[in-house]
Amino acid sequence: MGIQFIDLKKQYKSLEDSIDKRIKQVLEHGKYIQGPEVTELESQLAEYVGTSHCITCANGTDALQLSMMAHGIGVNDAVFCPSFTFFASAETIASVGATPVFVDVCPETFNICPESLEAKITQIKGNGELNLKAIVAVDLFGLPANYEALNVIARKYALIVIEDAAQGFGGEILGRKAGSFGDIATTSFFPAKPLGCYGDGGAIFTDDDDIALLLRSLCVHGKGADKYDNVRIGMNSRLDTIQAAVLLEKFAVFPRELELRNELASYYSDNLAKKFVTPKVPNNYKSSWAQYTLQSTERQKYMDNLKVNGIPSVVYYSKCMHQQTVFEDALYSTDLESSEELSGSVFSLPMHPYWETKEINKVIEVLLGE
Ligand SMILES: *Cc1c(COP(=O)(O)O)cnc(C)c1O
Repeated sequence: MGIQFIDLKKQYKSLEDSIDKRIKQVLEHGKYIQGPEVTELESQLAEYVGTSHCITCANGTDALQLSMMAHGIGVNDAVFCPSFTFFASAETIASVGATPVFVDVCPETFNICPESLEAKITQIKGNGELNLKAIVAVDLFGLPANYEALNVIARKYALIVIEDAAQGFGGEILGRKAGSFGDIATTSFFPAKPLGCYGDGGAIFTDDDDIALLLRSLCVHGKGADKYDNVRIGMNSRLDTIQAAVLLEKFAVFPRELELRNELASYYSDNLAKKFVTPKVPNNYKSSWAQYTLQSTERQKYMDNLKVNGIPSVVYYSKCMHQQTVFEDALYSTDLESSEELSGSVFSLPMHPYWETKEINKVIEVLLGE
């Protein structure tokens, strides 16, 4: 058995009894949709993140789209998002009819750059055709974005901050958890995310009681009194009870898993910083290490060498949002140099809590040996 990029099999083996038992309970009580495990999970996640509400849904993409719908984001609205991110952060802006405006990222943190954001806001404001509406701030690779700076800009221009914590769940700033930083925040339970289930899943976090109520309606066909009383256009977006059951057992070990991810990240950085640009975590920030990402202008050489030695590595992301065919006509897709440079130089190494020193030493040896 070689080293896995993310070893979900090892995780299952270590949690097998408890996960199997939880799934069996669902099969026996038969409430496959909106069963008691869903409510139990939502209250545990809200408590952990520190928000008044957690509303689960079908996946992290829906979580973003539902958040935008709940905040009335749509046609003629400009929504700012980093160009260096996973497609869903930008896709959902367009899905609700709004206009994505791509912002550059900070090369050290991979996250949305406040200076670039303000420059883009000024351009859109000068153009005068779109309402300045919202920012989608992404906690890329597990590191929360710079919310202190983003909130100042958001207040100045009356923008809604949506935290895309699909990768950031478990991250922190000054002891506060990711998922609590925006006006609204979303996460994903896709299997490869820091907290993943065995299929698709997502969640939304908010302190706003009215928005929470609206989200409960939006994710069940815009229901009123019940799902056959429809007061608005919504979606069908719910977390399966079986996935909630899996997540409850995985969430129980999640804090320990985060420690182990952090230990691996430190171990990588201690050994690799002499040769590579390693990821930086600002003071008072904690990453959930969704990815451990190096930068090198010679990444292909290193990735080929890893591959020859049976070690997987992946490029997240080789194409920026403004370079995607579907967004080729996007407004003001200039001054995105850091995003472009990163897409040409980043590569991510195996990262999961079930690592063994022997395996990681091999990764390091291959990378340092050329
Ligand atoms: C994975 C991901 C999403 C989407 O989540 P899904 O559950 O796959 O729909 C959104 N944003 C970011 C940054 C992601 O990494």
